[in-house]
Amino acid sequence: MAYVALYRKFRPKTFGEVVGQEHIVQTLKNQIQNNRVGHAYLFSGGRGSGKTSTAKILARAVNCEHPVNGEPCNECEMCRQALEGSLVDITEMDAASNNGVDNIRDIREEVEFIPTSAKYRVYIIDEVHMLSTGAFNALLKTLEEPPAHVIFILATTEPQKLPTTILSRCQRFDFKRISIENIIKRLKVICEENGTEIEEGALRVIALLADGALRDAISILDRCIAEGDGCITEEKVKELAGIPKFEYLVNMADGLVSFDSDKVLSCAEALIADGKDLNVFLWELIKMVRDLLVLATCKTTENYREDELERLKELLSKTDKYRLIALIDGLSDLSNQMKWATQQEIIFEAGLIKLCTAKRQEPTSESVSVSAATSREENHSDLKLKVLTKLKENGKILLRAKLESTKIELGEDGLVHIIFENPVDAFTKTSLQKDESKQAIKEAVISSLGKEVSVKFVNLRGKEE
Ligand SMILES: [Zn+2]
Repeated sequence: MAYVALYRKFRPKTFGEVVGQEHIVQTLKNQIQNNRVGHAYLFSGGRGSGKTSTAKILARAVNCEHPVNGEPCNECEMCRQALEGSLVDITEMDAASNNGVDNIRDIREEVEFIPTSAKYRVYIIDEVHMLSTGAFNALLKTLEEPPAHVIFILATTEPQKLPTTILSRCQRFDFKRISIENIIKRLKVICEENGTEIEEGALRVIALLADGALRDAISILDRCIAEGDGCITEEKVKELAGIPKFEYLVNMADGLVSFDSDKVLSCAEALIADGKDLNVFLWELIKMVRDLLVLATCKTTENYREDELERLKELLSKTDKYRLIALIDGLSDLSNQMKWATQQEIIFEAGLIKLCTAKRQEPTSESVSVSAATSREENHSDLKLKVLTKLKENGKILLRAKLESTKIELGEDGLVHIIFENPVDAFTKTSLQKDESKQAIKEAVISSLGKEVSVKFVNLRGKEE
């Protein structure tokens, strides 16, 4: 037997099975029971919120030979043909691919004829906002004087794109985003009926990922079932969705709140070595820091397991709100920089180091100005501090990170020496050799020393790099 996607298999077949749209289905049921069905409906709402499913149920309910309390019986000849998709009086059209005036003209000609076997001809037009202007005008003519045996159900995710002339002719129903709780409930029913074993935590992660769209949630569940065997665990879902593990995130967050650049770097290296998507990681990290902030303010958040919450509370005891807010700012900036970067890994590491050094720099740079003129020996280390601060001020964060492990001295030859203690890797070398980098370093050196001077890169033996 051909594989049927879960969301098709578990598409609601009655109004009662539609999740999270009680206000809409009750009204529709009342209309059917009281024989007051309209001729044009507009179903608007986010993707996966149940618009098309409800439209299909409505199309059956109005044609059902034995409706029960406004619900289709799903057993009579009409219902069965409709469920099989063989009832010619129900037409489904996707306006995304049939948006031309000819498509609507075909419908206009057809609606003049009485239905073949059903009571009503029903037209379900999905993504109706995609229709061309000409098609909208043709549709409007039909909506202005609809034959008694015709019902239009227009569905859209973007009602604001519809002409007001169309909007004013339709009964409008706004479908809500489906709550996490309702998504979990529906997933549980599906798993039970499907004989699928799943962890509570896995259900929660799927519901969070689906972001209000039940269809997406069911598709994720489907993928988890297809990929794994045995019980679907929370870890499995995260792995499939590319969500970094809690451990990765919490270790990085720990390093950041503790200004521990070693820890942060080793976390970053592990992530890169594991081939994780750094953009997704950053986004998840920002969410975690935000959750820490929420936890600091209102003491609770529903996004974590008990043991995870304990870890987060432990982290909170090491930091304060101001640091968390600064981190959200800094990480968001970094996330933006990453979007345009070709060397993402370097921007990623340098950005994280920057966030760790932010606090340390300020007190030391103050002490520089006090001790600047005291002795020549001190001048040497001061120069490096000043140059690094200048580079930071000028937004040359990467360059600054590259010079962090060097010595910067005024040499006997009157030039400023940038001394590399360790062999320089090829990438760093190429990037330092760029005119742009040399110029930026030179400018930082000149403004630190207050006089014109040239710069050269040397290794420990004084040999030029
Ligand atoms: Zn029926």
